[in-house]
Amino acid sequence: MEDCLFCKIANKEIATEIIFEDDKVMIFNDISPQAPVHLLVIPKKHIASLDAIETEDSLLIGHIFQVIKEQMRLRGFNNIKEGYRVVTNLGENGGQTVGHVHFHVLAGRNLQWPPG
Ligand code: AMP
Ligand code: ZN
Repeated sequence: MEDCLFCKIANKEIATEIIFEDDKVMIFNDISPQAPVHLLVIPKKHIASLDAIETEDSLLIGHIFQVIKEQMRLRGFNNIKEGYRVVTNLGENGGQTVGHVHFHVLAGRNLQWPPG
């Protein structure tokens, strides 16, 4: 989609250090990290938010979570102590600032609950 920051990253119109990619998914570092590990996981397909996910996207979304699990396992974040948090923000109150669905993956420190 034109004028979508994360579509531009997915299409490599904007250069970013790619942590992982396959034909459906890309992972890169958040430009403003909120934890020692702060990855952004996006579908390459433009989907505006969680609310815009359609039934036909179910396999894609499932695949995203498999990729997250595999990538975090590779980094050793799959035990009871070194876990992580996956967050998606939706709308203004949810704190969404980029209109292309993305999953924040935060790790490497003790994350507080509830979030602010
Ligand atoms: P959200 O506020 O949930 O929509 O998340 C958008 C995230 O994208 C924020 O955490 C930003 O720091 C991050 N961000 C914005 N621009 C870039 C960029 N060019 N590269 C990487 N991360 C970005
Ligand atoms: Zn997009």
